[in-house]
Amino acid sequence: MAGGDAQHDDGRGTGPIVIWFRRDLRLHDHPALTAALAAGRLVAPLFVFDEALLRGRWPAPNRVWFMRESVRALGEGLRERGGGLAIRVGQPEVVVAEFAAEVGASTVYVTRDYAPYARGRDRRVAAALAGRGIGFAAKRGLLVHEPEGIVSAEGQGYTVFSPYRRCWELRRPRAVLPAPGTIPTPPRLRVGTPPALDALGPTAPTAREIPEPGEAAARSRLDAWVADGLADYDEARDQLADDGTSRLSQDLHWGLLSPVEVLARAGGGGAGRATFRSELCWRDFYTQILFHHPRVTREPFNAAYARLDWRNDPDHLTAWREGRTGYPIVDAAMRQMVTLGWMHNRARMITASFLTKHLLTHYAVGEEHFMAHLTDGDLAANNGGWQWAASVGTDAQPYFRIFNPTLQGQRHDPAGDYVRRWLPELARVPTRYIHEPWTMPEEVQREVGCVIGADYPAPIVEHAEARRLALDVFKRAADVGRE
Ligand SMILES: Cc1cc2nc3c(=O)[nH]c(=O)nc-3n(C[C@H](O)[C@H](O)[C@H](O)COP(=O)(O)OP(=O)(O)OC[C@H]3O[C@@H](n4cnc5c(N)ncnc54)[C@H](O)[C@@H]3O)c2cc1C
Repeated sequence: MAGGDAQHDDGRGTGPIVIWFRRDLRLHDHPALTAALAAGRLVAPLFVFDEALLRGRWPAPNRVWFMRESVRALGEGLRERGGGLAIRVGQPEVVVAEFAAEVGASTVYVTRDYAPYARGRDRRVAAALAGRGIGFAAKRGLLVHEPEGIVSAEGQGYTVFSPYRRCWELRRPRAVLPAPGTIPTPPRLRVGTPPALDALGPTAPTAREIPEPGEAAARSRLDAWVADGLADYDEARDQLADDGTSRLSQDLHWGLLSPVEVLARAGGGGAGRATFRSELCWRDFYTQILFHHPRVTREPFNAAYARLDWRNDPDHLTAWREGRTGYPIVDAAMRQMVTLGWMHNRARMITASFLTKHLLTHYAVGEEHFMAHLTDGDLAANNGGWQWAASVGTDAQPYFRIFNPTLQGQRHDPAGDYVRRWLPELARVPTRYIHEPWTMPEEVQREVGCVIGADYPAPIVEHAEARRLALDVFKRAADVGRE
C-alpha cells in the first residue's frame, strides 16, 4: 500500500499475525483480518487503550464509553469464532511490541489511519517492532478510496469537493469481504476485558441516549436504514424533525461498519441513494484533506482568514453552549447534542454558522465543544464542517452567505416539532411564532406560559446587526489576506 506512513512489511515469516484493532471494531469486511487468515497463519487480535487518546486533546465520555462497549462486543464476536481479544492499556509503541513478542508474532497488521496523531503513533510502533525483527503492515478499510488514489491530473489531492467526487465516483471500490467463520488464535493468547470507565478517564457517558454499541447493533441499524430510510434520504435529510438520516455516523467513525460495505448497500438508482453516496464521499474527502494538509488542525485552510478579528465574548459562548441564545433552532440543536451525543447535520451547520458569524467566536472553540459531546466526533469531518461553516476552509461557503437562524428554522422545521421536542418551554408556542418567539404579543406569551426574558431568553444578538458586523469583519480579513 502507498502512503509511506509506517514501515510496511507484508506478512514475512511463519509466526502468528497480530491484528491490532483501532477504529475498525468489526469482523465483516475487514481487509487486514482477511489477509492474515488468507496467509494461513494464526491470528492474535489486540486492542490497546491508548492513554494519549483517552486523555489527550479531544477527551469525550460519550465516545470513550461507546468505544469501550464496542471493544467488549468485538471480544465476544472473536470468542464465538474460536479466538478472543487481548486487551492492553498503555503506550502503543511499548505494549504492541511487547504483545507481538509475547505471542511470537512475525508481523502486526492494522487498518490504516490518516489522522496526524495516528500516523505518528504508527511510525513509532513500526520502529519499535522493527527493533525486535517484527514486521508492520497497514491495510485499507477506513475509507472507500485511499487518499493517493483520488488525485488530479497533476497528481495533487483535491481541495474542492465537486471534482473530488467526480473522480471518486469513477473509481471502482474494492469487493466487500465476508466475516470469517473461525479465527485460529495462538494457544496461549491472554485475552482480557475492557478496563472500567473511570480507569480510562471519564466515569460515565454524558448523553442520555447513545445508540447501542457493537458491530451487531450497527449492522441492524444499517439493515433498517437500507430497508426503510435510504430511498427518501434526499427529501427527508434536511427536515430536522423527521429522523430522515441514517444515524450511522458513530458506526462509521469507530469502524463497526465499513464504508465500502455501506456504499455497496446503498448502490442502485434513485435520488435518495445517490445523495447518500455523496455524503459518504464527503467523509473520504475531509479525511484526505486532513491527510494531505494536517496543518488544518491548527489553522484555517484558507490563510487569508488566519488573522480574523474574532470577538470571542465569553457570555455569548456560554449562552451558545447551554442553548440559551434566544434563537430556538440554535438552542434546540445544542440541547439535542447534549442529550443524544449526536446532532442533525443541518443543525450542525446552523449552530456552527451562528457561533462563528453571529457571535464572531473562533471556530476552534466550537470544534472543541462538539468533540467533547459527539459520539461520532471525528477530527477530519468535524474540523472540515467547522471550517466550512466559518467560511475559512477548503470548500467553504462564502463568508457573505450567512444563515438566518429564523429562516433556517422555518424552512427545515416548518411545524416547529424539532424545537418543541428539545425546548419544552416553547411547547405551547403557536407555530407562527415558534422560530421568532420574541415577536409574540405579551398576552400570547402569558397565555402559552413562555414569557420572553423569564421563561425563554430574548435573542442575545439581533440578526441584521450581527450579520452586518460579521460581513465587515470577514471582509476586512479577506482584504488584508489578499494584500
Ligand atoms: C460543524 C459540523 C461538524 C461535524 N462534525 C462531524 C463529526 O465530528 N463526525 C462526523 O461523522 N460527521 C460530522 N459532521 C458531518 C455530519 O453532520 C454528520 O456526519 C451527520 O450529521 C451524521 O449523521 P448521520 O449518520 O445520520 O448522517 P447521514 O446524513 O446519514 O450521512 C451518512 C454518513 O455520511 C458521512 N457524512 C455525512 N455528512 C458528512 C459531512 N458533511 N462530512 C463528513 N462526513 C459526512 C457520515 O459518516 C454519515 O454517517 C459535521 C458537520 C458539521 C457541519
